[in-house]
Amino acid sequence: MKYDCLIVGAGFAGSVMAERLASQLNKKVLVVEKRNHIAGNAYDEFDEHGILVHRYGPHIFHTNSKEVFDYLSRFTEWIPYEHKVLAMIGNELYPIPINRLTINKLYGLNLSTEKEVKDYFESVREKRFPILNSEDIIVNKVGKDLFEKFFKHYTKKQWNLEPKELSPSVCGRIPIRTNDDCRYFTDKYQFMPRDGYTKMFEKILHHKNIEVILNKDYKTILDSIKFDKMIYTGPIDYFFDFKFGKLPYRSIRFEFRNMNQKHFQETAQINYVDDSVEFTRVVEHKLLSQQKSETTTISFEYPQQEGEPFYPIPTEDNRNQYHLYKKESEKLSNVIFCGRLAEYQYYNMDQVVANTLKNFADITI
Ligand code: FAD
Ligand code: UDP
Repeated sequence: MKYDCLIVGAGFAGSVMAERLASQLNKKVLVVEKRNHIAGNAYDEFDEHGILVHRYGPHIFHTNSKEVFDYLSRFTEWIPYEHKVLAMIGNELYPIPINRLTINKLYGLNLSTEKEVKDYFESVREKRFPILNSEDIIVNKVGKDLFEKFFKHYTKKQWNLEPKELSPSVCGRIPIRTNDDCRYFTDKYQFMPRDGYTKMFEKILHHKNIEVILNKDYKTILDSIKFDKMIYTGPIDYFFDFKFGKLPYRSIRFEFRNMNQKHFQETAQINYVDDSVEFTRVVEHKLLSQQKSETTTISFEYPQQEGEPFYPIPTEDNRNQYHLYKKESEKLSNVIFCGRLAEYQYYNMDQVVANTLKNFADITI
């Protein structure tokens, strides 16, 4: 069989690229996906209790990019959703990102203005310069105690590394606030796809020029198809048969439980930031979709080394190792490496969509 383009992976990077090539350039595209479903890690489905669950962890769409929002809006209606997360320490819940309410509750204070909170942080912060890692970036803003309570253990559980071994960009994803804004994100566009992510992907991939094959590793079909260009969105080390060694990716074991009660917790996500339990967070799925039901399904996240590669691990060594692969990839003019695994970057969904649209704009085929 002859295609203009072979796309490896049916996640955001692969599916958006397939849609663009098919609809804008009239190219014949084959998408090959090794899992038994489309949508990559954004995959959601109804469980046996009729509750829409995110199989690979909570996926909250947030972006400041009008272009990305407008593009995806062609394939879904949206429900407004602003994510709120609480952090459990002992038996108490505190707003995370750390804000004025967090500080007041934790230390029994009564700070009432942003200036007071700013002064408080100023009094407890430890100046660090340069900011070299994920410990520096937090301690420099709020000092050791808040760092140890909210970041140290969660980070160790999530990555099996100390924050000081990780790039500042990891813990730096979480802002520190002086106001009482309890939202996890402050982006302009914050929504959930009304009918779920998988339904949105079905629409993205619904085109006469797009064929999708599931349950197949692309390497097993390479001999039986012909194509001019490949878009590769899987792990870059696998593409090159691990010639520079295995790149570390972090995985998670998700444990789902249906509870015979209407609600389990007071917000969609609770982070367990101390080391008394092994899991990092508990998600109550129907609070993401605002679905009504008599029972509720929750999931526990146990980070682990083995399993599906979910997170590139942002350390300096890994970055250097990735660059060996990247150099190799630049020698191949007919393969584009795109997405979180292929670029070994801790991207959110909107960043992957933005990059894919940009890659498409630059494509020559
Ligand atoms: P993927 O979704 O990983 O897609 C790559 C696809 O390639 C996969 O389906 C894989 O099976 C397939 N593949 C790999 N190798 C092969 C092969 N050899 N042959 C065939 N197919 C192959 N982002 C947000 O914006 N908001 C969030 O709230 C959010 N929460 C997240 C929570 C978790 C637990 C995780 C892990 C990620 C989260 N993300 C979130 C990030 C989001 O999942 C990614 O940005 C996005 O899914 C990346 O899309 P992608 O196409 O690059 O990769
Ligand atoms: N983090 C933390 N405590 C928290 C939330 C986050 O220490 O309560 C750190 C942790 O290292 C985590 C990183 O910040 O991996 C990024 O958090 P985010 O919620 O963005 O993680 P993701 O949803 O991508 O897993």
